[in-house]
Amino acid sequence: MPELPEMETYLTGLTPRVCGHPITDTEINREKSINVPVAVWKESLIGLSVTRIERRGKHLLFHLPDEKLLLLHLMLGGWMFWGTEEEKPDRTVQVQLSFGSKHLYFIGLRLGYLHLLSDADAQHKLAALGPNPLELSAQQFRNLLLARRSTIKAAFLDQRFLSGIGNCYTDEICFHAGIRPDRRIHDLSAEEVSNLYDSMKTILTKGIASGGYMENPLYTGDRLTGGFNELCQVYDRGGERCNRCGDTIVQTELAGRKLFYSAGCQR
Ligand SMILES: [Zn+2]
Repeated sequence: MPELPEMETYLTGLTPRVCGHPITDTEINREKSINVPVAVWKESLIGLSVTRIERRGKHLLFHLPDEKLLLLHLMLGGWMFWGTEEEKPDRTVQVQLSFGSKHLYFIGLRLGYLHLLSDADAQHKLAALGPNPLELSAQQFRNLLLARRSTIKAAFLDQRFLSGIGNCYTDEICFHAGIRPDRRIHDLSAEEVSNLYDSMKTILTKGIASGGYMENPLYTGDRLTGGFNELCQVYDRGGERCNRCGDTIVQTELAGRKLFYSAGCQR
């Protein structure tokens, strides 16, 4: 599932391409991906321009005039492609927004959605989201973390704690900090909490700078998207050798979620 760095990469790639250009057409191939009847959808959107794109956690908000917006959550397996009809990947498109000869394709939206909402309804829907981890001070992080009774993994996956971090970055952050993700928060030393904060900032920043881990480019010639894939140290590398200590990377499960850590260098 795309996390903060992946959605930030989409935001950066889409803003200059989408914003300020009128929506000339829209096609819906999966009505469950939207929240209003197709006729209402078309009538509401055609002719409008996206004024700006914002990220909140793992969501993107495509702001429209008159205090409306499109709220996107890609969930598991969702991704986007921008380009002409000829460039479109050979995949089923659930929702398409057209901007003249260029189109924004929403692909793999099985659990994901694109909802037309008022600003107020969207704010209400996102009200429970925790803060942006990149905007937290060390002290704020410490206070929020120590209020939790769970493991690190469970806390990071809870979007009410921090918004935008998921399975992959939790394990990568913990690897960077040298701490196992299944450690209980109240067992962490002050130094470990501080390391976890530093690693969170470092790994998320690196994830954004290298284009996140999405497998597919956003547009033809896109060389940024997916650059973090090769930089993953533990996630989806179960059974491989650790780049830091040479020991085996362990894959296990915690409350039904995949968990990866190095047996040799994470305490
Ligand atoms: Zn290791």
